[in-house]
Amino acid sequence: MKERTLAILKPDCLEKRVQGKVIQHIIDAGFGIKGMRLLSLSEDSAKKFYAVHKERPFYVELVAYMTSGPVIPLCLEKDNAVADFRKLIGATNPANAEEGTIRKMYADSIERNIVHGSDSPENAKNEISHFFKDSDLV
Ligand code: ADP
Ligand code: MG
Repeated sequence: MKERTLAILKPDCLEKRVQGKVIQHIIDAGFGIKGMRLLSLSEDSAKKFYAVHKERPFYVELVAYMTSGPVIPLCLEKDNAVADFRKLIGATNPANAEEGTIRKMYADSIERNIVHGSDSPENAKNEISHFFKDSDLV
């Protein structure tokens, strides 16, 4: 099996109505979509998802942002999916993101940065299971 990673199109992506464009970039970069959902995160679920950041000063705001509108979690598959997806989305702060990356093209700020990507294969497994059962994946 190829490697898998979790992406989330964040509330600002849907607010800006660019979710179709971002999904096209993901497809064009060679990722297979194994699972896709449209949902609103509860506060509980957002807190759990970002628990690694709970001591960070931006945690409360991050949870508020991630629950401010619907999101689209995607389970993506490709060789080297985790690292390649991080490369496709660019740096956390769009001001530092390389030209051609999704965050450079669409994001406004270090917080409202359009898209999430898992940072390691191990975290990807946990994050995928936050949103998808194995039987949900094609
Ligand atoms: P990444 O999403 O690139 O892996 P992190 O895991 O460090 O970045 O942070 C998780 C999310 O928290 C970021 O994508 C962003 O939405 C938000 N965030 C990160 N750093 C800051 C910050 N300094 N101020 C506000 N929000 C931040
Ligand atoms: Mg991260």
